[in-house]
Amino acid sequence: MEKVRVRFAPSPTGPLHIGGARSALFNYLLAKKYNGQFIVRIEDTDRERSGIEWEENILQSLRWLGLDWDEGIQVGGEYGPYRQMERLDIYKKYTEKLLDSGQAYYCYCSTEELDNERQELSAKNELPRYLGRCRNLTEGQKAEFEAQGRKPVIRFKVPPGERIVVDDMVRGKVSFESDGVGDFIIVKSDGIPIYNYAVVIDDALMEISHVIRGEEHLSNTPRQVLLYQALGIECPHFAHISLILGKDRSKMSKRHGATSVIQYQKEGYLPEALVNFLALLGWSPDGEEEIFTLEELVKEFDMDRVAKNPAVFDMEKLKWVNGVYIRQADTELIARKAMPYLQEKGYLPNDKDIDWKHLTAQIAIAKKYLSTISEVSDFFQQFFGIEVELEDDNAREILQQEQVPDVVEDFKQKLISLTEIEPSAVKKMLKSITKDLNLGGKKVFQPLRVAVTGKTKGPELHELIPVLGVEACIKRVNSILQQAAR
Ligand code: GLU
Repeated sequence: MEKVRVRFAPSPTGPLHIGGARSALFNYLLAKKYNGQFIVRIEDTDRERSGIEWEENILQSLRWLGLDWDEGIQVGGEYGPYRQMERLDIYKKYTEKLLDSGQAYYCYCSTEELDNERQELSAKNELPRYLGRCRNLTEGQKAEFEAQGRKPVIRFKVPPGERIVVDDMVRGKVSFESDGVGDFIIVKSDGIPIYNYAVVIDDALMEISHVIRGEEHLSNTPRQVLLYQALGIECPHFAHISLILGKDRSKMSKRHGATSVIQYQKEGYLPEALVNFLALLGWSPDGEEEIFTLEELVKEFDMDRVAKNPAVFDMEKLKWVNGVYIRQADTELIARKAMPYLQEKGYLPNDKDIDWKHLTAQIAIAKKYLSTISEVSDFFQQFFGIEVELEDDNAREILQQEQVPDVVEDFKQKLISLTEIEPSAVKKMLKSITKDLNLGGKKVFQPLRVAVTGKTKGPELHELIPVLGVEACIKRVNSILQQAAR
C-alpha cells in the first residue's frame, strides 16, 4: 500500500454523531493498519452554522473514543493550518489561478434570477442547475453590475459532455455526467469558499491518499473530481461508507437512540464498547468473533470487508457489547465511573467519605448485571437499599408457601450466628437450611431470594449477603415479609 494519509474533516455545526464517529474510526483504522497518518481538519466555512462549542464537542468526543490523531487541529503538523477559516489566503491563490485560466468566473445573478431559472427548468422536467448566464460577461457588463451594487460569487466552469467516473473503494465504479452538474459556486460573495472547493484544495495540499466518508457525500464527489482535474492534481482514493439506518430501516434518528457520541458517554457506555460497536456498523470481521479492542480492530480491519448496503443500528446489540466490556473491565474503574450516578441519586456520600472497599464489593456484584453504567443506581436501589419492594404477585405467592416461615426463621438465626460473613460461609449456611428442615433446594433458595431481594431473579445470595451485611439483610427480609402478608 502506498503511503496512507487519511483525514476526518468534520464541520463544527453540531455534536459528533454516530455516523461521523464511524467515519473517523474507519479512517483511523486504515491509517494505523498501514502505519500512516490520521489527520483531523476542521471545515468551518459555513459561518452561520459553525460554532466553537461544536468543535470542542467533536474533538472531545474523538479523544473520549480513543481516536487520537497524529496531525491536525490542536496537535499541529507540517501541512497546517488545520482549520479552514485560517486557510483563506491559500484558497484565494488557487481561485486566482482558476479565474486567470478561464476555468472559473464571476457570477452576478441575483437570488431571484436563479430561482426563476430553477423553476423554468423544473417546469420543463429538466434538472435544475445553473445554465451559465454569466459565463461570458464583458468587462462592461461586469462594471454595470458592480455599479448596481451586486456582489459576485465565483463559479466553476463545468466542462460539457464529460463522463466522470468515481472508482469508489466501497461502491465500485460510479459514473456521473458533467452536463447534469451545472456551473457551481466555489467562492461566495463574502470571499469564503464553499465546502466542495475548500475540501479539494485541502485534501490535495495535505497529500491525502484516501477519503473515507459517509455515503451522503457521494453526490458531491463529481464536483470535486472536476476541480482536481482543473487544478491538474491527482484524485485521492474515495470510499463512501453506507448510511446508518435504524432497526425499522429508516434513516438513523433520535427515535432509534441517542445520535451524539457525548450522549452515550453520559448514559454510561464505555468508549471501548462504542468503538467496537461502531466498527461493526458496515465492516464485518472474517470470523465469528465480534468483540475487538481497538488494537485488534487495527489488525483485523480492511476496506475489502466494508459493505455497500446500509448498516443497521441495533441498540440491543450495543447494550450487549457494552455489558461484555463492563464485565471485562477492572472493578475499580467501573466503581469510579459509577460514582457520579450513585451520588446523584443519594446512594453514595461525597467523594472523601466513600468507603471504597464496600463500594468495590458492591460493584463487583453489580457489574455482572449492567449493560450501561447508568443502570447502576437502579441496581443499587433494588439490591443494596433498605427500602425494597416486593416485585410482583408471583414473588408474593412464593413467599406465601407454607414452609416459608420456618425457612426464614432458620435463615435469620443462622445468619446472626455466623462468625464470618463471606461467600463460602454463607453458601454453606444456606445449604444447611435444606438439610436441617429436610426440604428440597427450590423450597429454600427461591423464597429466600425473594425474601432478601424482593425479586425472583438477581445476584447469587451468597455473594449478595456478605456485601449487604447481616443487619441490612434482616431489615430487608422483615420489610418484604410484611409486604407479602398484606
Ligand atoms: N465537512 C464535511 C462534513 O462534515 C466533510 C466531508 C468530507 O469528509 O469530505 O460532512
